[in-house]
Amino acid sequence: MRVVITGGAGFIGSHLCDLFLSRGHQVVAVDSFLTGSPANIAHLSKTKGFRFIRQDITRPFSVPGKVDAVLNFASPASPEDYVRLQVETLRVGSAGTENALLLAAKKKARFLHASTSEVYGDPLEHPQRESYWGHVNPIGPRSMYDEAKRFSEALVMAYRRTRGVDTRMVRIFNTYGPRMRLNDGRALPQFFGQALGGRDITIYGDGKQTRSFCYVSDLIDGIYRLLQSDEREPVNLGNPVEITILRLAEEIIALTKSKSRVVNRPALVDDPKQRRPDISKAKQVLDWEPRVSRAEGLKLTLPYFREQVARTKRGNPALRFARSGPGVRT
Ligand code: UDP
Repeated sequence: MRVVITGGAGFIGSHLCDLFLSRGHQVVAVDSFLTGSPANIAHLSKTKGFRFIRQDITRPFSVPGKVDAVLNFASPASPEDYVRLQVETLRVGSAGTENALLLAAKKKARFLHASTSEVYGDPLEHPQRESYWGHVNPIGPRSMYDEAKRFSEALVMAYRRTRGVDTRMVRIFNTYGPRMRLNDGRALPQFFGQALGGRDITIYGDGKQTRSFCYVSDLIDGIYRLLQSDEREPVNLGNPVEITILRLAEEIIALTKSKSRVVNRPALVDDPKQRRPDISKAKQVLDWEPRVSRAEGLKLTLPYFREQVARTKRGNPALRFARSGPGVRT
């Protein structure tokens, strides 16, 4: 296969590039580096079968040659990024997704769209099944991301129903691993950065809110299976083991042997109180479930964050912490 991966220099996109190349496919990564990074794909620059196109997909674009699949992974994805890049986030979910769909239509390629558990909002149904329609504030501080992704789901369905594009859709739950940006503001990189840097660990609210964290290799294996499958409706992919954010902080403090203290900050507006995927459908149609436990996954991720923190200390300005407290997010 020859696959185009938009957002190919992002956290998940770059792992997908690696996976497809390792399985003998050709990859064209497309990225504007708005939140992605050249460092995530630098190791591929001399790899046979890999090509990179620097492109903002909110503008029309083409890719020369045959394309068998388009995987649409371009978007800011951390709450701090999408609050900082509100209009860009709405544009990539709308115009960007349409440009990627047009590429798939033109090339008669399969289209796999990266959606998110955020389409469920602050969910009233728990755990979340694909049949749940969600509980989303359309004008709240997360709306630029949630509504962009909900719109993009509708757009994908419209192109499937009326333009004959063969589509797949994954709803991705919290995922972690190497290549997350240290300063992207999400809980996991933030806690690693704070613990390894000897700073206070900032918990928004009482820390009783829950998430379920999936190691990146499990996620991309599920995405690969979904692309090959016949399942055209959305499929949740994530780890169903749910923990509180306070517990995550404590685990990271223990793993890094840090002396950092946990401090509470005001809760974020519209922050989902609980989140856990129901993955029965993925089990059934993809024969997929996560294999990497949180203990293993956090251990696998630690050396990466150690290196990032060391670089920051050495003064690489690109990796300096953007912030260390709340306030920017609402
Ligand atoms: N969170 C926190 N401290 C931080 C960053 C995040 O307590 O420094 C909380 C946040 O309020 C949310 C959870 O951790 O309840 C997960 O946030 P994250 O930004 O990782 O992703 P989300 O699941 O909200 O998209």
